[in-house]
Amino acid sequence: MSKSLTKRSEDYSKWYNELVVKADLAENSAVRGSMVIKPYGYAIWEKVQAQLDKRFKETGHQNAYFPLFVPKSLFEAEEKNAEGFAKECAIVTHYRLKTDPEDTSKLIVDPEAKLEEELIVRPTSEAIIWSTYKNWIQSYRDLPILINQWANVVRWEMRTRLFLRTAEFLWQEGHTAHATRQEAIEETVKMNNIYAEFAEEFMAIPVIKGRKSESEKFAGAEETYCIEALMQDGKALQAGTSHFLGQNFAKAFDVKFTNQEGKQELVWATSWGVSTRLMGALIMTHSDDKGLVLPPKLAPQQVVIVPIYRSNEQFEEVSKVAKEIQTKLQNAGISVKFDDRDTHKPGWKFAQYELQGVPLRIAIGPKDIENGTVELARRDTLTKEFVAQEELTIKIQNLLVEIQDSLFFKAKAFRDANITEVDTFDDFKKTLKNKGGFISAHWDGTTETEQKIKELTKATIRCIPENTKNELGKCVFTGAASQQRVLFAKAY
Ligand code: AMP
Repeated sequence: MSKSLTKRSEDYSKWYNELVVKADLAENSAVRGSMVIKPYGYAIWEKVQAQLDKRFKETGHQNAYFPLFVPKSLFEAEEKNAEGFAKECAIVTHYRLKTDPEDTSKLIVDPEAKLEEELIVRPTSEAIIWSTYKNWIQSYRDLPILINQWANVVRWEMRTRLFLRTAEFLWQEGHTAHATRQEAIEETVKMNNIYAEFAEEFMAIPVIKGRKSESEKFAGAEETYCIEALMQDGKALQAGTSHFLGQNFAKAFDVKFTNQEGKQELVWATSWGVSTRLMGALIMTHSDDKGLVLPPKLAPQQVVIVPIYRSNEQFEEVSKVAKEIQTKLQNAGISVKFDDRDTHKPGWKFAQYELQGVPLRIAIGPKDIENGTVELARRDTLTKEFVAQEELTIKIQNLLVEIQDSLFFKAKAFRDANITEVDTFDDFKKTLKNKGGFISAHWDGTTETEQKIKELTKATIRCIPENTKNELGKCVFTGAASQQRVLFAKAY
């Protein structure tokens, strides 16, 4: 398979799909809309998981696991949530197949094995979890419950894209239960902040924190907080969400607790999740026409060493030094692969590691052995330099920090340059067409206006940003009074 990719400027979407497949991250499967995550892609996902898991546990959460199937009667208990997800549910109706009497090489659904009650394959787990919390919560002493689960969910999406939108995806979902409204809101905001910090510090993806509008919020939530990122093609991506669920699920499942005064009260809820979509965000934030660019903190291998040699003798000589370098770097906590395969040429290896986004590449040959140097190449800037072997560990330690920071600042500069304030609907349309990105505009706060703007431009309100100044203005569409600008964009 050729290692070159379609250029981003030619066809961004084709570039993305080719990159995912050629960098060995994931591929389409025999199941419509569902992907196979390949070992290299999964190794990156595991890094995401490990880091988030650590942050969840540091903030007092514990992991647990709930069933994949949700009995329909539980699923439909919280009406808004059920209605919101009804359009994209997979449903189990039978539990057995049998041989087709008309063609014994085939199996058919056994009509006698029909389930008494259909099972919904979870699109999200509030229903099954809150039906369980009912048994766990009696008194204020049982609260709060701070639980997270790592799982797969199924949403029967019609238009799917590898990582960004798949019918089955991997995620974590936090589900917490609280005695007071205030505490639940604080939890919702805290988890959204954790997502933002993680995205920025670890994935080097700048995000905007905010709240969703009424029509974009999670089905069954009172308020949805989110982090929104901007991709290189000027489209926005919802990278994570944190929901304040009020007492909606407690009402639906009759989850009450006795408070300190001995009175019965309904429990307050939150839920929050990020998914394998983050892999798509990672790719579309940093990568270039040569392939993936990985922030060092996420790279399964931070450094790769490629030996250059002509004879067996040279190979032995170069390998000896390469292995010493590998050990030194590993002792300094850096992950290093020494690619000593004889089955591939150095040029092939260079292209492969560029495609896979390994942050630093060391090439070492007989000349370097003589000179006590190596050639060190940076994936993000594609620059090369010779470095003395004895200075290499320190040099690489510093460079890894520098690359991590520089990827973030580059992405942030791009993001900031692509937030445009507009005050007329004409400018709104022009900016969207010519530039894309986030459009910061006044909005009258109504769902009707949001809907009309969406119909006319395909742009939606990505978020009502946090920490923006109150600024009186007029809705860009209706001219009605508005207190704050919101961010519109076309989104993935
Ligand atoms: P939600 O439960 O809808 O708030 O979604 C939780 C997280 O999963 C958000 O970060 C979404 O962006 C992400 N997500 C939603 N649908 C999909 C999908 N079909 N594929 C991948 N990620 C998704």
